[in-house]
This record gives sequence, structure tokens and C-alpha cells, in this order.
Amino acid sequence: MVNALLDWYGQNARDLPWRRTKDPYAIWVSEVMLQQTQVKTVIPFWERWMREFPDLTTLAAAPEERVLKLWEGLGYYRRVRSLHLAAQNLRDRHGGRFPRDFEAVLELPGVGRYTAGAICSIAFGQAVPILDGNIIRVLCRLGALRGDPKVPELNRWLWEEAKRWVETAAGSGRSDACSHLNQALMELGATVCTPRAPSCDRCPVAGACLAKAAGRVESYPELATRAKVSLREFVVAVVVNRALVWVRQRAGDGLNGGLWEFPNLEIEPGGRGGLERLREYLGETNLDGFEPLTVVRHSITRYRVTQQAYMAVWAKPSREVPGDGRWCRSAELEALPMSSAHRRIARAWSEARDELHPG
Ligand code: SF4
Repeated sequence: MVNALLDWYGQNARDLPWRRTKDPYAIWVSEVMLQQTQVKTVIPFWERWMREFPDLTTLAAAPEERVLKLWEGLGYYRRVRSLHLAAQNLRDRHGGRFPRDFEAVLELPGVGRYTAGAICSIAFGQAVPILDGNIIRVLCRLGALRGDPKVPELNRWLWEEAKRWVETAAGSGRSDACSHLNQALMELGATVCTPRAPSCDRCPVAGACLAKAAGRVESYPELATRAKVSLREFVVAVVVNRALVWVRQRAGDGLNGGLWEFPNLEIEPGGRGGLERLREYLGETNLDGFEPLTVVRHSITRYRVTQQAYMAVWAKPSREVPGDGRWCRSAELEALPMSSAHRRIARAWSEARDELHPG
């Protein structure tokens, strides 16, 4: 099976930019970006990132705000803060060189067993396994494995199975066998053995697949039912002072830490009186208007989030700010890192302002 998979990968691997290098830093960046994000979304982010931060030391020396800005749109910002911190660790403790030792890679902030395995097998050709959602699906179907693959016992078995595959590849004597085997398993899950309607007729290991033989491919893996979707609602204040708008920066270590945002407040989903709550929250009498500006809806993990944005006018002539934060011009706002939802609110403000003051 290993040889069939390696042959298939040789002929069918997608030409992705991070597959043209063996630089562990570049591979690491791609793996972190690919967590929770699709390949086609990641490509332009990765290319831009590598142009601006081509190596570890450039990334380690970059200001956090710039690092967050380049990540803007990828979400899950904890990933990039860990990446930045790990680059600084590597500069300070490893002289800016990427360690080759699996355990040393695993010690880096934000690097788990999967990412360490991907770096060590792809960049260094080591026979270490990887296991992600795609590989779990392939292995569960091949073996028609019963049970939830997140349950520790089966999960441990799957890691062992992934290890057997990569070690067999290592013994095949083929060039880049460990790197290609791990990537082939991922690629098969991403492009052929898909969650719905897998293309078994194009699968190089179909002859050995027990789920296919039983005609029950979509029954595997037997994932536990997902947590129920929860609704969350926020009211957001876009306070404007002529051409300026008021924004604040989130605390460094929490969700979306270090990003800039408009002041906002979570309210009961579907609850009334959001605008009154927002006025109260701002505790400021020097605000006029509070016109509805836009409503932004988005999803984060199991949450469906609604952000109701209101525009208010700062009635004081001074540049005093109504709380923590700063006044910003539209162009300055563009340069600050913001979550996608607040970026959409910022664009709605820019458009509303252009309509009011064309040219
Ligand atoms: Fe997946 Fe079908 Fe291949 Fe089995 S035969 S591994 S279900 S694509």
C-alpha cells in the first residue's frame, strides 16, 4: 500500500508553494496557517508572509502589530502570537537555527505533535508520523474502524498506525519517502477520500479499503456529534469625530489579543435594548446620533456571532478620547490589525463617510 500511495502522490500532488522548499521555517509557517484554514485561502497569505518575513530572524525582530496585520483575515490569532514567540525563542536559544531534534521542535510555543511531525518529516525526512483530520478519515475508512477517533484509546492506535506507515516508507529506500508518505496521506484525505462522496474510483489504496468493501465509506470515521451551535450577539460603537474614528486595542493574552477594535459589548442574543446598553456602557454624554451603521454576521468554531454596529458622533470639539484607545484616520485604520468582523465594520464606516463627504 505504501508504494501505491507514494506512486500516486508522485503523479497527483498539487503544486503548492511550500512544497517547493525544504526550509523548516517555511514549512512550519504553512502548517500553522493551514490549521483551521483551507489551502486556497492560505496560498496568498503564505506568499505575502514569506516576502515580508523570509526567515526566522526577520520574523523574530518584527513588531507584534505588523505580525498580526499580516495574519489579518486568517483568524485564530493565538496561532500567530505563538509563532512569533517561538521565532524569538529560536533566535535567543538556538542562534536563529531551526532544531532538527523532534523533542526540541515539540517544545516550541504552539507546536504540537502534528506540527512537529510535519516539520521533521517534510523538512528533515525523519520517520515521524502525523495525524490530522484528513489522515484520521483515511485510516478509519481503510480499517473500517469503529468508535470515535478522538477517544484516547483509538487515537493512540491511529498514531501507532500512522507511525507504521511512515516507518514502512522509510524502509522503502525511495527518495523523500517519509515526507511524501505523510503528505500523500494528507493529500488523499483532502482531494480523494473527502468527508462526503469520496472518489474511491481514483483511490490508489481502494483495493485494501474495508469501508469500501462494506459499501459504508461515509459511515467512517464515527465522530461524536458536534457541540450545538450557540448564538452570540454584540453591540458595537463606531464613534466618529470628523474624519477620525475611535478604536481601542485588545489585551495581549485573551481572544484576538493585540488586535484593534471598536468598543463593543456582548448582549443577550435577540435581546432588546442593545443600544441603551451600549450608551450606558460608553457612559458618555458627549455622543450624538447613534445611527445603525451595519450588521456583521460570522462564525467562530461553534458560535454564530452577530455584531450590530451603530455610528455616533463625538460632540466635544477636543481630541479627548472617550475611554482607552485612540482616534484614527481611515488610512491609519487600514494599517492596524483587526479581526475580520471589525474590519468589515471599518469598511462600512469608510463607505458611509465617503457617501456623506464625496471626493
Ligand atoms: Fe477513502 Fe474510498 Fe480510498 Fe477507502 S477507497 S480510502 S473510502 S477514497
